[in-house]
Amino acid sequence: MTKRIAVYPGSFDPLHNGHLDIIERCRTIFDEVVVAVLYNEVKKPLFTVEERIEAIRELVGDTCRVESFSGLLVDFMDRVGGNVVVRGLRAVSDFEYEFQMALMNRRLNPRVETVFLMPKEDYIYLSSRLVKEVFALGGDLRGLVPDPVLARLRQRLRPGAPA
Ligand code: ADP
Repeated sequence: MTKRIAVYPGSFDPLHNGHLDIIERCRTIFDEVVVAVLYNEVKKPLFTVEERIEAIRELVGDTCRVESFSGLLVDFMDRVGGNVVVRGLRAVSDFEYEFQMALMNRRLNPRVETVFLMPKEDYIYLSSRLVKEVFALGGDLRGLVPDPVLARLRQRLRPGAPA
């Protein structure tokens, strides 16, 4: 039987518990999971792709592969032998864009299926953008963002502030 290799693509700028929840769910379903960090300078990232990869690896250890990609996701899928794209669905507002992307990707590469997973309810409202905004304003994100990521946010957004 062919191995079921899932690719979980995104910006992960930074990784939060919603992302980790989806990664955990993937691990129970697929034989192999590749977390794919997108190069997208348009989004003006807070962390470089290399920093994001380092942070993700620190948390997932050797349970998943963590790689970067640019260009078409379907081409990356071919490079890593992936057959399933995994996306997280938070709210109905995510749906329309995701639906379009999934159908476009299927058209570009009919071998690739997209599956959607829902996170634990506690994380349904979390996004990397909100994490950065709340952290920069001094909000407490414990329980929503892993501690090593909080430490990186502190270094980047509140250097010199007490832990
Ligand atoms: P964002 O910057 O919006 O957090 P990313 O590009 O890093 O998004 O997201 C990567 C993938 O993770 C996408 O499929 C996105 O839908 C999913 N995702 C993001 N946040 C969550 C969350 N809180 N719960 C579940 N999935 C999520």
